Amino acid sequence: MGISAKARWFVEYDSIEELRYALKLFGQGAAPEGEPEPSRPILHIGGGSNLLFLQDYDGCVLHSGIKNTSIMEEDEGSVTLRVGAGIVWDTFVDECLQKGYYGLENLSGIPGEVGASAVQNVGAYGTEAKDFIVRVETIDLNTGETRIFHAQECHYAYRHSIFKQPELFGRYAVTYVHYRLNKTFSPQLSYAALNKAWECLPSEAKSKASAIRSIVISMRNEKLPDPHILGNCGSFFMNPIITKHKFESLQAEYPDIPAFAATDGMVKVPAAWLIQQCGWKGKRIGNCGVYEHQALVLVNHGGATGKELAALSDSIRASVQERFDIDIHPEANFI
Ligand SMILES: Cc1cc2nc3c(=O)[nH]c(=O)nc-3n(C[C@H](O)[C@H](O)[C@H](O)COP(=O)(O)OP(=O)(O)OC[C@H]3O[C@@H](n4cnc5c(N)ncnc54)[C@H](O)[C@@H]3O)c2cc1C
Repeated sequence: MGISAKARWFVEYDSIEELRYALKLFGQGAAPEGEPEPSRPILHIGGGSNLLFLQDYDGCVLHSGIKNTSIMEEDEGSVTLRVGAGIVWDTFVDECLQKGYYGLENLSGIPGEVGASAVQNVGAYGTEAKDFIVRVETIDLNTGETRIFHAQECHYAYRHSIFKQPELFGRYAVTYVHYRLNKTFSPQLSYAALNKAWECLPSEAKSKASAIRSIVISMRNEKLPDPHILGNCGSFFMNPIITKHKFESLQAEYPDIPAFAATDGMVKVPAAWLIQQCGWKGKRIGNCGVYEHQALVLVNHGGATGKELAALSDSIRASVQERFDIDIHPEANFI
């Protein structure tokens, strides 16, 4: 979000051994040399692209510098890669396509790192990370012990995983994510706008996953501001999932309300539409505001504080609640 915030300590480790060493110095019950306090809070971050710091962090911020990848399993149709958490997500996606490993092309251009992809279950254009994750290797920050989570144990759902559940939040450092990818390219075109753009390609381009990557990146560039120029964390809110009954009653009042089918007969409503209906699109309050081209994106026009952005988020939530009786939840992690 381009927020200015300081950490008391920042530790980047390049291996699991270094992480364990850092935990001895900074972890639960440890007293860093010359420091009176017995323990300090620990926050593990990735690229920081989905974090909103409300204040300075009086603790230890950890960051993974684990950047190696290896092949765990391989057969004629697929390959399973063990991917270091510190690798930039889009570099990983690009390298997979160059090697002929397919599946992640729709997730091109998402900011952040591989470790967070397994925490956040990143998703875009009809694909989610969970569709390809088989295991997540972690270190328990309380004990330093390794724990491997199989995909079923991660409780993946829309932008959700076990690592985001309150009782486990912040407990595990993701060190490696195991991705199983296909060796045959089969385009995933369930997202209507992507399908439309794909249909316009000449037939010779349709054999290449890199064509999906190019379309996705140009669609993203059109829709979202570059965070290096205008601070933002992508979609600030998650799309709410409501019951069919609730949707039908809203539809009676707002016949043009857009919707997508969700699991278990529920309905997903675009938060951007709800926010736009409440008149927020393009509004500026002090140093922050709602992006003029996309109501789901909150932006830092320069010099905004985390607290200002949180207050804007609260006001938007309250007006959506009041008008539609729907509680929208921030996707961004407030720290
Ligand atoms: C312009 C823009 C567009 C975006 N578009 C999308 C999109 O299309 N789809 C989507 O899903 N997201 C999108 N995002 C959000 C963001 O890219 C993802 O949430 C991403 O996964 C965050 O990665 P990060 O490495 O920056 O994680 P951070 O923001 O640093 O952290 C995110 C969370 O993961 C935890 N975490 C990170 N690394 C580790 C680790 N190694 N071990 C344990 N916990 C860890 C953190 O504690 C935090 O809870 C967008 C963001 C921006 C700025």
